[in-house]
Amino acid sequence: MQQLQSTDVSPGSLPHGGQLVDRRLDAQEAAALASGPVASLVLTAAEAADLRAVATGAYSPLVGFMGAKQHQSVTEQMRLPDGLLWPIPVCLGLPDGLRIQGDRLALRDPEGRLLGLVEVAEVFDRDRQAEAQLVYGTTDPAHPGVARVLEAPARAVAGPIQALVEPLEGPVGTRALTPTQTRATFAERGWHTVVGFQTRNPVHRAHEYLMKCALEMTDGLLLHPLVGPTKDGDVPAEVRMRAYAAVLQYFPAGRVLLAALVAPMRYAGPREAVLHALVRKNYGCTHFIVGRDHAGVGSYYGPFDAQQLLGSLPAEDLGIVPLRFDNAFWCRRCGAMATTKTCPHPDREQVALSGTQVRAMLASGRLPPPEFSRAEVAELLIDAYRI
Ligand SMILES: [Zn+2]
Repeated sequence: MQQLQSTDVSPGSLPHGGQLVDRRLDAQEAAALASGPVASLVLTAAEAADLRAVATGAYSPLVGFMGAKQHQSVTEQMRLPDGLLWPIPVCLGLPDGLRIQGDRLALRDPEGRLLGLVEVAEVFDRDRQAEAQLVYGTTDPAHPGVARVLEAPARAVAGPIQALVEPLEGPVGTRALTPTQTRATFAERGWHTVVGFQTRNPVHRAHEYLMKCALEMTDGLLLHPLVGPTKDGDVPAEVRMRAYAAVLQYFPAGRVLLAALVAPMRYAGPREAVLHALVRKNYGCTHFIVGRDHAGVGSYYGPFDAQQLLGSLPAEDLGIVPLRFDNAFWCRRCGAMATTKTCPHPDREQVALSGTQVRAMLASGRLPPPEFSRAEVAELLIDAYRI
């Protein structure tokens, strides 16, 4: 059996497909590869985040953007052509009129900065309607993930990538760890079991409770907010990162690692829950928290669809254990955080606020009840809403 180094693999979890992908380039290598008659493609923010996720190994075993065969197989079967579980196509749109010269394309941000390269293996027509229907369960353009698929160019360019993975600015920057880095930290801390928590929202008491329930059973917690492109109305990543850091004081130091996942949010519900689990497996997690309507938006998915899909997959295919939770709340009668699994009391005993109610309170500078939100978190959010 192959000897694995402790920095590559945390004791509990192998990357999806067995090996962590690393497609990073340094600036000099990238500039050399992009010189000469190489056409440039300007990436959307979501594509740039996908590029980074592939390059760092977050999307292992993917080494680039998908071609026709992979796209069809993933869309229809939820598996790569070799049978490995993979729930969502990762594609790169090729705008009309862009002519590819030679065997590679330079990938740039809107300011013209080089992000990486794709070795062009294939250009194909992407069946966006089928992708929307089968992956997202709807072709409704009001769904933000579907809108992104339908607005993408009809043609896609596929092939392995290489990319510059540079530190990000602001409070997210130092937290945007690669899978290699989180795995090294888990190994240093001697964590054999690690539970991952995905979020794109501020952490209130309910989520803190779920994380603590999971942490009762595992060696460590990876608090792993997604900081890539999200939809309008979601709280900005910089604010959220400060709010997550504020929550850490309610956990024992050394039992939690706060890191940021740079990836686009697709709002694909059940299929995205599978992707979120596989990505956390690549980051070295052995367990993954799946809440109510995980990665959902609006009312496109049932509250337990994501949990059911994850529960239906063979454990050996998934390679990470989903921990399925219902919504948590403070119960006045119990005098504790609880869920309907642990509290028998009627709804009126619950301290519950809708997202809309919370936003209205914060926007008017009022603190939600302490049973709902830590004051340290709420104060940061109030400041952010004032700006
Ligand atoms: Zn109760």
